[in-house]
Amino acid sequence: RQEVVLVGRSNVGKSTLMRELTGHSKFTTGKKPGVTRKPNHYDWAPESFMFTDLPGFGFMSGVEESRSEQIATDIVRYVEANADDILAGVLVVDGKSVVDIIDRHSGPDEIPHDVELFHFLRELEIPTVVAVNKMDKVDDEDERLDDLCDRLGLLPPWRQWQDTIAPISAKRGNVEPLLSALKTHFHDQKRDDL
Ligand code: GDP
Repeated sequence: RQEVVLVGRSNVGKSTLMRELTGHSKFTTGKKPGVTRKPNHYDWAPESFMFTDLPGFGFMSGVEESRSEQIATDIVRYVEANADDILAGVLVVDGKSVVDIIDRHSGPDEIPHDVELFHFLRELEIPTVVAVNKMDKVDDEDERLDDLCDRLGLLPPWRQWQDTIAPISAKRGNVEPLLSALKTHFHDQKRDDL
């Protein structure tokens, strides 16, 4: 069963996004290797795959470092164990705060989890889209998204990266940029299969 995995810090709006993407879709559970806590699987009717929310894997602010480390390790383990079934990864971030959070956690011996996971997914050749949520709260959209590209090692301007950077507002139901970004990757993969 192929899947699209969602990862992100808690409070970025991952549940809101999941609801928006899957609507009333059936909730399924499954046990896969490499999981200590159970991820949530949601069928997505228009396509024959499921979204997998990695809950509790949500690395939280305010929790002690060792716990947050453990959560990141769980995500890595899940993705490594299931890489063959993973069509794409979605890293959900809060557009209003993500650049500040990355900057605060960047140092000579420190890579922020968001950045680390982004590179990790790409290294496994899993097409990855950054869903930049809560854009309804952001005024200087272009500047903010260019800064984010810079932090992720993508050369700005962000508009060159619309298959990777998807500004959305889950709460307002504006998730189209994410869906079209995901679709470009699915089509790429289908071409590769021919
Ligand atoms: P999770 O912890 O990542 O699952 O986050 P939730 O989905 O529970 O959302 C956390 C908070 O952010 C809630 O108060 C949501 O209403 C709010 N939120 C989610 N998406 C958006 C959005 O697009 N814009 C704004 N302004 N708030 C949002």
